[in-house]
Amino acid sequence: MLEFLQIFRFLLHYNLHLFLPGLIALIFFRKKWKLAWAIMLTTLLIDLDHLFANPIFDPNRCSIGFHPLHSYYAIGFYFLIFFIKNIYIKIFAIGLLLHIFTDLQDCLWIIFIT
Ligand SMILES: [Zn+2]
Repeated sequence: MLEFLQIFRFLLHYNLHLFLPGLIALIFFRKKWKLAWAIMLTTLLIDLDHLFANPIFDPNRCSIGFHPLHSYYAIGFYFLIFFIKNIYIKIFAIGLLLHIFTDLQDCLWIIFIT
């Protein structure tokens, strides 16, 4: 059962990273949904901050508040840039916040399941 939940957690995490931005792009940026989705996918690059951690990947470590680009300061910055009146920056900010949301739900899995 635990193994099934781990597989489900893994699939949920990466599907949210890849397809939730696509769904949001389709709903809110219908005319340029492919561009909006592509911009939001670039926010996966903030995971490069894992390279500074040892070990680089630990499935039972919560990214939020641990890695520099997942810190509370960074998240506050992502909220702030959402209010800049440039549609591309706004889409980027939404992508960043969706990324943080996805990582946050993964932290809840760590707390409640493992
Ligand atoms: Zn992340």
